[in-house]
Amino acid sequence: MNPLATAHPAAIIDGVALSAQLREDVTRRTLALKARGVTPGLAVLLVGDNPASQVYVRNKVKACADSGLHSVLERHDADMTEAALLARIDALNKDSSIHGILVQLPVPAHIDANKVIEAISPAKDVDGFHISSAGALMVGQPGFLPCTPYGCMKMLESIGYDLRGKHAVVIGRSNIVGKPMAMLLLQKNATVTICHSATKDLKALTLQADVIVAAVGKRNVLTADMVKPGAVVIDVGMNRNPEGKLCGDVDYEGVRQVASHITPVPGGVGPMTITMLLVNTLESAERSL
Ligand code: NAP
Repeated sequence: MNPLATAHPAAIIDGVALSAQLREDVTRRTLALKARGVTPGLAVLLVGDNPASQVYVRNKVKACADSGLHSVLERHDADMTEAALLARIDALNKDSSIHGILVQLPVPAHIDANKVIEAISPAKDVDGFHISSAGALMVGQPGFLPCTPYGCMKMLESIGYDLRGKHAVVIGRSNIVGKPMAMLLLQKNATVTICHSATKDLKALTLQADVIVAAVGKRNVLTADMVKPGAVVIDVGMNRNPEGKLCGDVDYEGVRQVASHITPVPGGVGPMTITMLLVNTLESAERSL
């Protein structure tokens, strides 16, 4: 018996159910836009044949179709030049049927990912990775929010969690997850600690946390002995266990006995990320009117 265990296992924040709810709203608003002559459109560009990327782009395109959005999937050979990719982005920036542009990362090594991200018009930056989207988030101006942290915030909102004065610990500091996640938590008046690979004594920090977001990409980064009873745990990680099954960064079964709320993998943050991409694309189309 874990001495930290709470009386009941954590409530599961179901990303599939919450996504379905949010996607109903996307579908309804898309229909309303179509009635006004605008179909929200997303362009997805994939360079090369990374197997994980192939799955991600397929899921994004399918999600668009399911909610009535128009999408274009452009598959390009791995040897596509950087100049050719930038030219395609330029054309899509000017295409009025496209409201969101997404280049699936990673791009092949001969292409500068930063250059590609900066080439996308900020008005169509539905991934929220452009430096002006990141800057807007930093200073609290409106802009596209990166889909994964945006989805995590929706999950916290769905349980009515008031972040004001709470201590949130974010594990990971990438530009696409960790840093924007920390900014969003800060905006909601949490006190935020950001941890990374050079953090000393991660456990001492996570044990103080009311909310923990794990975005590392390593199995079992967060175990039950590192979690304060009653904490809310959001697992962004996507890894494979030795049996090849998808799993997160969190030791789910152990932490579930200590936390008050937890997100599963699969079925947690993953579906929410795609849902927020739909929301961003829809909002871009709404703004275009
Ligand atoms: P990333 O760019 O590789 O960043 C990982 C972060 O974890 C880095 O900041 C790194 O620190 C930190 N880190 C590494 N080892 C650590 C340790 N032992 N203790 C504490 N911090 C450590 O990854 P990412 O793009 O942010 O993605 C993170 C995970 O989320 C991956 O599994 C990815 O597949 C998943 N993901 C899921 C979704 C979804 O929709 N579910 C979306 C995006 C990403 P340094 O900065 O010091 O190197």
